[in-house]
Amino acid sequence: MSAKGNLINGEWVFTDKTFNDINPSDTNDIIGTYSTAGEAEVKAAIAAAKDAFQTWQYSTPQQRFDVLDNAGTEILARKAELGALLSREEGKTLPEGVGEVTRAGHILKYFAGEALRAHGQVLDSVRPGVKVEITREPVGVIGLICPWNFPIAIPAWKIAPAIAFGNTVVFKPAELTPGCAWELSDILNRAGLPKGVLNMVFARGSVAGPLMIDGCDAISFTGSVPTGTRVRDQAVAKGKRVQCEMGGKNPVVVLDDADLDNAVNSVLNSSFFSSGHRCTASSRIIVTEGIADRFVEALGKATAAIKVGDSRADGVQMGPIASQEQLDIARDAVAKAKAEGGVVVAGGEDLTFGTPGYYYAPTLIDKTTADMAINKEEVFGPVASVIRVKDLDEAIAVANDTEMGLSAGICTKSLKSAETFKRKIQSGMVMVNLPTAGVDYHVPFGGRKASSFGPREQGAYAVEFYTIVKTAYQLP
Ligand code: NAD
Repeated sequence: MSAKGNLINGEWVFTDKTFNDINPSDTNDIIGTYSTAGEAEVKAAIAAAKDAFQTWQYSTPQQRFDVLDNAGTEILARKAELGALLSREEGKTLPEGVGEVTRAGHILKYFAGEALRAHGQVLDSVRPGVKVEITREPVGVIGLICPWNFPIAIPAWKIAPAIAFGNTVVFKPAELTPGCAWELSDILNRAGLPKGVLNMVFARGSVAGPLMIDGCDAISFTGSVPTGTRVRDQAVAKGKRVQCEMGGKNPVVVLDDADLDNAVNSVLNSSFFSSGHRCTASSRIIVTEGIADRFVEALGKATAAIKVGDSRADGVQMGPIASQEQLDIARDAVAKAKAEGGVVVAGGEDLTFGTPGYYYAPTLIDKTTADMAINKEEVFGPVASVIRVKDLDEAIAVANDTEMGLSAGICTKSLKSAETFKRKIQSGMVMVNLPTAGVDYHVPFGGRKASSFGPREQGAYAVEFYTIVKTAYQLP
């Protein structure tokens, strides 16, 4: 199998080092081989993006629209094929894979529209006859560092606004999911982008990170809290514009008056689907005493009934865990929770399906307390824990007792309780009677505390990060 290359200045660039893309449902299945970028390739990608910026910054909105719209059209036309690739390399089920690819296509089209929309203002000055124009200019070269858990939607979400607002890009995908990164880059490259506007390097984070922070004008990072915090500190020290979206330890509060079926389904969806590999996954289930026994019994049954298996098999609701590393984290977290007094209600064990894959049962742990490691550290796998509380006030206090603050949910029929929760919860996103993980692509996304740093991602707010404001005064 010949290796696929890095995209630098419009050309596919190869090195003598390669790495494999492996199917987590069957680790004997090697999906593809990719060429590893080193320092030289990362530096060349940054240089190409800098050169291309000299002209791309003056490109017309129509040019930017056409590229993003063409790419979005191709992605939507190929969603079955690309969804299957995503499912095979990341482990999401086939419908989840196709859903993510569809989202990526819609994102590209949304930002195609943003390229055409007005983002400036003209005002009368306080001085007679003087006009004030407030315009937005592109920032320059944007370095994009992405995780593996949404291998096409997150890169599309960052690349599209960067290009729509006239920036050029150096994109560094996660090591686990090169296939989707390559396809997205290839599609955009063929959609009409001039050379060097989009560059993509398969480099290790520790190699690319410092070079990108040094050479790019801005960095948009999505990944874990420890890595993101390091990237943030290095970027801030160099005076670079930086945006980091990081982990979550997202709570869902289930009150006595909740609709039981809706609460079970919301938690099931957000805790276990996509194998829990969502930054917005519900991991702390905070339940009031009056409903706790009924809720835990129903959720336990539903959790045990989730059909796990090869991600592309018919009827499978949850695929494998994405990597050996993530599997080990899930196993360790469950063992620690048990040792601290948690009671496993469902799952808590490896599963086998005839192929060597990273299969783990969706796991629900009851009788945990807010101070246990399972309620402090992000697992980023199909593991959720139950904390029993007496009322809404205690539920909110427990929900806020975390260093993270990405998404949070409440299940209740009381408008008053929902309003109180929305006001007091320390999170960037709040869901009422909805899964914590169900976020739209056309509205702002982001968290509080250690979960996020910098301007909100996307929707109409993307313009804040991807442009610089200029105020011009003019006397005709
Ligand atoms: P990670 O932090 O291990 O890696 C993220 C990216 O950073 C990868 O591309 C990696 O190669 C790169 N990287 C590694 N070391 C680096 C360094 N020294 N300098 C610069 N870059 C470096 O995260 P992951 O395992 O890929 O993703 C899972 C994490 O991402 C979870 O914590 C999850 O919550 C988080 N996540 C957050 C969001 C969000 O929007 N808030 C979305 C998806 C995932």
